[in-house]
Amino acid sequence: LAFVTLVTTDSYCMGATVVARSLRRHGTTRRIVVMVTPNVSEHSRFTLENMFDEVITVDVMDSKDRLHLSLLGRPELGITFTKIHCWTLTQYSKCVFLDADTLVSPLNIQQHILAAGCRMSPESMICDICHLLSGGDQGLLNSFFNSWPVADISKHLPFVYNLSASSLYSYLPAFQQFGHNAKIVHFVGAVKPWSSHRDDSSSPTMEGFVSLWWREYLSHTTSSAP
Ligand code: UDP
Ligand code: MN
Repeated sequence: LAFVTLVTTDSYCMGATVVARSLRRHGTTRRIVVMVTPNVSEHSRFTLENMFDEVITVDVMDSKDRLHLSLLGRPELGITFTKIHCWTLTQYSKCVFLDADTLVSPLNIQQHILAAGCRMSPESMICDICHLLSGGDQGLLNSFFNSWPVADISKHLPFVYNLSASSLYSYLPAFQQFGHNAKIVHFVGAVKPWSSHRDDSSSPTMEGFVSLWWREYLSHTTSSAP
């Protein structure tokens, strides 16, 4: 089993850094792998090589679905089709794909996320069934695995494994009930923790997770600075 993420642009390299560090903090014994596209700079690649067990170069795949992506307001997401290369990593018995904008929560440090990871089939990558036919990877995965929403419910991951920090922004009660159980926090949406100012948040929930993200990001960067 391997944990896999994807970086197709330099800016998401910061996100991938946090994915790797937060997984290591949980003491995982599994391989941590990043797929990168050839356009990613030498510098970013070097940074990733220092943090991941394996850096695998993959071709860009683009849905070129301008219509649906413009409806989503996220024209940049066509290239998320590149994620599909995860199915070619057949050297691993199972792959758990994590977006580069996720944080394995430090709040549940004693609870190992591998318990869920081990049961996962490749279809378990689809834990985000709300992005139907979006022109991004979720739309593709949802149409290919179209029985997923109604198929064997025991294979579905509980939503605390894909807790959307941005939807909590508009749903405070859900955060109060489930926020402390967050296992993996997902910074869905155009504004990522690394693209916003550290204190620039109007929501106490977002702010909490964004500052946890920054703490993880800076946990080694500062110590390695001259
Ligand atoms: N991604 C990337 N560069 C980009 C856009 C996306 O590397 O410019 C990768 C990255 O792994 C990211 C994933 O594709 O986490 C999905 O995109 P994103 O997380 O932005 O979508 P959202 O979760 O906001 O729907
Ligand atoms: Mn994401």
